[in-house]
Amino acid sequence: MVHLGKVPTHKELEDQKKDLPDVGGLDLQPHGSDQFTASVYGSHYAAMDLPKHEMPEEMMPKEVAYRMIKDDLTLDGTPTLNLASFVTTYMEEEAEKLMVDAFSKNFIDYEEYPVSADIQNRCVSMIARLFNAPLHDENAQVMGTSTIGSSEAIMLGTLAMKKRWQKKRIAAGKDASKPNIVMNSAVQVCWEKAARYFDVEEKYVYCEEGRYVIDPKQAVDLVDENTIGICSILGTTYTGEYEDTKAINDLLIERNIDCPIHVDAASGGFVAPFVNPDLVWDFKLEKVVSINVSGHKYGLVYPGVGWVVWRDPEFLPKELIFNINYLGADQASFTLNFSRGASQVIGQYYQLIRLGKSGYRNIMCNITRTADYLAASVEKMGFLLMCQTGGKDLPLVAFRLNPKDGHQFDEFAIAHQLRERGWVVPAYTMAPHAGTLKMMRVVVREDFSRSRCDALIGDLKLAVQELVKISDAGSIDQYKDHVQRQKKAGKHQKGLNQHYADEQHSLKGKHGKTHAVC
Ligand SMILES: *Cc1c(COP(=O)(O)O)cnc(C)c1O
Repeated sequence: MVHLGKVPTHKELEDQKKDLPDVGGLDLQPHGSDQFTASVYGSHYAAMDLPKHEMPEEMMPKEVAYRMIKDDLTLDGTPTLNLASFVTTYMEEEAEKLMVDAFSKNFIDYEEYPVSADIQNRCVSMIARLFNAPLHDENAQVMGTSTIGSSEAIMLGTLAMKKRWQKKRIAAGKDASKPNIVMNSAVQVCWEKAARYFDVEEKYVYCEEGRYVIDPKQAVDLVDENTIGICSILGTTYTGEYEDTKAINDLLIERNIDCPIHVDAASGGFVAPFVNPDLVWDFKLEKVVSINVSGHKYGLVYPGVGWVVWRDPEFLPKELIFNINYLGADQASFTLNFSRGASQVIGQYYQLIRLGKSGYRNIMCNITRTADYLAASVEKMGFLLMCQTGGKDLPLVAFRLNPKDGHQFDEFAIAHQLRERGWVVPAYTMAPHAGTLKMMRVVVREDFSRSRCDALIGDLKLAVQELVKISDAGSIDQYKDHVQRQKKAGKHQKGLNQHYADEQHSLKGKHGKTHAVC
């Protein structure tokens, strides 16, 4: 998540300086002119802190700027060892080349870059067909667009459902001021944002211990005349399970309720069609009116692309569409942002045609196998598995300590141990009403090979052994203190925004749910 940064005051900057050691006596010799120096580290810039708060008055040589920023970034984690994230960390060089070549293209400029725009439409068409859009009907008008990610796609989906509901209410002479949306309390944070930003009341179906997906009957029971739609998740962020969209669909039909379903297929949209082709979750279900997917997750593109598709313009009201006249050409547009890069859309097209269905199928089946292997290994180590295997859900492994083992440490301590070995395996507190359950989650991505998986298993074993040793020595409380202190002292925590630290409105604020990274 991008942080909302707080700009430090002048006084805070002065105070920070007071903490620095005094190296006044270290001025060995004055720097000469750097003008002709070829060495980055011999220049006076290397002896200075990077400018952080005020834009410097003078320029610096490009080699120096490059090197300094590159060095600074080495303290970031290694993307391939980051098992917290669904987001793509590997693409072929050819794809990268195409994307770099397109860096300077503004995607919105349809007139100037008509091929890029057409490439987006080709992707929309392929994705809509992958999701079984009703194109057998010759009058079908399936619509779709690229976005920055699933979050924007979900904002657009929410707006469309809200507008359709409002129009219907107003046409019937009814009150249209209290829209609500029904969803699982394990939704990704963007659903909370969408509801809040667009003034839609959130109606949650809460998880229970043992059930981390939406209960279809409870969901449909919550629907009333003010419900704009139901969100069903194809692969929840916590346990990766697919929600039963068909059951929700069937209940709505059975009870003759006019309520659309939006499927959040951010992660599952490029997995289920290949690994689990018999699962019915998409436009084959008549109540499913819109679907989003993240191109940058199992769509296999670097971050910055998502997709959303609507079954029919009935579910995408005209009032939301702008015909943008750009340099003489009219283009229908439904986005939150105007300018954006074209690279990600081009990268998506490369993956779709380079890999084809068989390529995606091979990759998705391979990582499903790796996930199953990891799941079996953690179970053997005594952890409780919180996800399914065999391709019944996303290729991730969610697990927790067995309370019967009476360990004195928790999942967060294990995460910390693994972090010291370079792995990012997050620990989470589950969605509310699930007994404040803690869990760990490993997302298996394309570049997480079997041998890397074995390395992780080895380190996980070591981490647990180490923590048992610390517990046996009676020092686990000191260890927990140490972890807490490290967290607080973390250099990068300084940037956290204290002004908003006590927000109480979200599922996190109210229930302590951790928003999963995805
Ligand atoms: C990742 C994710 C999102 C948010 O998608 P972005 O592409 O990161 O904006 C929404 N819903 C689910 C289920 C997700 O996994």
